[in-house]
Amino acid sequence: MNATPSSTPDVEACDVFVIGGGPAGSTAATLLARQGRKVVLTEKAQHPRFHIGESLLPSNVALFDQLGVRQQVEAIGMPKWGIEFVSPEHTHRSYLEFAEQWDKRQPYAWQVRRSELDELLFRNAASCGASTLEGCRVRDVAYDDDGATVTAELDDGAGGKTSRQWRARYVVDASGRDTFMANKLRCKEKNPAHNSSALFGHYTGARRLPGIKEGNISILWFEHGWFWFIPLADGQTSVGAVCWPYYLKSRDKPLKDFFDDTIALCPELADRLKDATLVGHQVHATGNYSYIASHAAGGRYVMLGDAYTFIDPMFSSGVYLAMHSAFDAVDLVATTLDRPAEAARARKVFEKRLKIGPKEFSWFIFRVTNPTIREMFMYPANPLRVKEALLSLLAGDLYGNSPIKPSLWALKGIYYMISIRNWRRSWAGWKRRHRNIEDMGPLAGENILEAR
Ligand SMILES: Cc1cc2nc3c(=O)[nH]c(=O)nc-3n(C[C@H](O)[C@H](O)[C@H](O)COP(=O)(O)OP(=O)(O)OC[C@H]3O[C@@H](n4cnc5c(N)ncnc54)[C@H](O)[C@@H]3O)c2cc1C
Repeated sequence: MNATPSSTPDVEACDVFVIGGGPAGSTAATLLARQGRKVVLTEKAQHPRFHIGESLLPSNVALFDQLGVRQQVEAIGMPKWGIEFVSPEHTHRSYLEFAEQWDKRQPYAWQVRRSELDELLFRNAASCGASTLEGCRVRDVAYDDDGATVTAELDDGAGGKTSRQWRARYVVDASGRDTFMANKLRCKEKNPAHNSSALFGHYTGARRLPGIKEGNISILWFEHGWFWFIPLADGQTSVGAVCWPYYLKSRDKPLKDFFDDTIALCPELADRLKDATLVGHQVHATGNYSYIASHAAGGRYVMLGDAYTFIDPMFSSGVYLAMHSAFDAVDLVATTLDRPAEAARARKVFEKRLKIGPKEFSWFIFRVTNPTIREMFMYPANPLRVKEALLSLLAGDLYGNSPIKPSLWALKGIYYMISIRNWRRSWAGWKRRHRNIEDMGPLAGENILEAR
């Protein structure tokens, strides 16, 4: 291992500087600190801080095991055994259980408060040896021949700010949707194939599914998008609407009233919330949000999780993909620092693996408004083990643990055959989707947290 650059009185030296203390950043910092590297992990907020994205996947559990936090996550989590789909075109509900996936060993995940999950991952990084700082926002990263100078602004505890610098051999950007490095390099691109925004709030007193299904996520489609219904362990339920831009553009009233009206468009959800109370009268909005950076890794940096790409959250893949990208990145960072001659190859391998998750999930996300794929979710059948493969994908088992590829190809083949047979219906679905994702320019309420 090469030596950490030496510190000067004002500039501390480290091997790896991690920007962002969300799931990706804390995971990377934990694993790199465990290798004996000098790691600094900074978070601009103070934990516990609010974050949306509360539904986890079964494949997350193995990652928690490796980080040594499984029991802590279990203690804050609501067991999630499957997914319920509710469609306005069908009278029945479809229940997909993770126990039916290819590999039956991990049949559940959890729904969690992200403030709690993210704090425990962050504290775990500190207990594994990373030097952690909260209230510390990175403002600049400047590269030279030996590494990078990172400049950050720290809350001084008295309402003011102080500036601080580090010399780092490597920088991990896990800044989430702030996309620090992609903005700096101007390499962030809006995803032309998808376009949606979300409104969400938390409720007490929502009617949940009975028995073991209580903690399941429900996905309820409606005319202008889809809703999530995520039951949390403390009795509150997270409810969100992911809508097409034209619909949000039509908002002509306060966000809370608009959200109430939106819920009323989905009778099943309205019924589940009829005796429920919106916590704090607060509805949040987040703007257009599907994007990707043109690349994820350079000579001395890597972008992880949402700092690299964001896809529609329909299948609750964000936290898992963010943490998985951190596990993969650790090999890349180690290779770059210890065996620089192999770094270019390691970057290629990393970039290829990073694309697997977003690509597999996006195939379904882009087609889920299509009647053929909708029916596959509403009437899941298992010829050629296609249902098991689909469930493995939805559980996050994407990286070669189970031989699901042939069955996924079969499923896609069946989809194309049915679509061609019903070409009129498919064409209408395709046209509708292209109308839906049309860019409407900035939306009122974009990227804000708006109170009543
Ligand atoms: C509406 C919506 C619903 C979602 N639902 C789900 C879901 O149900 N399940 C799921 O798995 N995912 C969901 N997601 C996605 C999920 O929230 C993200 O994919 C996940 O949080 C990514 O983790 P991350 O560590 O990459 O980024 P983040 O969790 O966003 O963490 C990044 C951190 O970096 C910090 N930061 C930013 N800039 C700086 C800076 N300059 N200096 C220091 N710190 C900085 C931020 O404060 C933040 O704490 C949802 C997302 C949205 C928008």
